[in-house]
Amino acid sequence: MRELIFKYALKNALDFGNANPKAVIGKVIAENPDMRKKVKDLFPVVEEVIEEVNSLSRDEIEGYIKSFTFEEKERKKEQKLQELKCAEKGKVVMRFAPNPSGPLHMGHARAAVLNSEYVKYYGGKLILRFEDTDPARVMPKAYNMIREDLRWLGIEWDKEVVQSSRLEIYYKYARELIEKGLSYVCTCTAEEFQKLKIGKVECPHRNTASRKNLENFERMFSDFNEGDAVLRFKSGVDLPDPAMREFPLMRISEKKHQSILLLRREFILL
Ligand SMILES: [Zn+2]
Repeated sequence: MRELIFKYALKNALDFGNANPKAVIGKVIAENPDMRKKVKDLFPVVEEVIEEVNSLSRDEIEGYIKSFTFEEKERKKEQKLQELKCAEKGKVVMRFAPNPSGPLHMGHARAAVLNSEYVKYYGGKLILRFEDTDPARVMPKAYNMIREDLRWLGIEWDKEVVQSSRLEIYYKYARELIEKGLSYVCTCTAEEFQKLKIGKVECPHRNTASRKNLENFERMFSDFNEGDAVLRFKSGVDLPDPAMREFPLMRISEKKHQSILLLRREFILL
């Protein structure tokens, strides 16, 4: 039994720097379910073995661990990533795009690690993009918290993009979309638009001429107030998913962005 404990204590120490009694007991019981009833007897032995293992150097641990074999089940947990269809070596670009509203949570960490591992596996680039176009959802300290959390996870990124510093680019594309007749400024109230959307009916602003739309777009920076108007994408009123019907691309926010001083009002890229 001591040998089994030793084996898992070594593995745990190798994986995490220091062996943890609960983790080791868990592994021992997984291989020997009968031991579940004897956890109390097991505990002092585990603690003793762990003390010994934690005093070993990494080289010593690596030396000892070679004499043990780990079942296939053990190894499966460290299985390789699933191949991505069409991915080419050296050309995989992944992005991790948190909203800087606080430190990362587990869901974020999972996405960040997966993206980073794919970039390491294929070679390419990892882009960290702060989705901070809505100032109401930004916590200034969070930018650094996120960078720190990522470094703690062992993640390095090749490029950083702060969306709020690129608003002029988004405005430029918004104007282009309007000129091409692909989006329009809508001044329906939320309730009015909701009814039209459910009924698959076009709103009265959908067919406004581009020139008028461009004028209204500029008014979103001046005399329109927060909530008065949104820029909608002409996606179609009869799409099966109501959320996709004529969805908004931009709305007005009166709040200032962290990283840029803009016009009197700014839009939010949704
Ligand atoms: Zn409308």
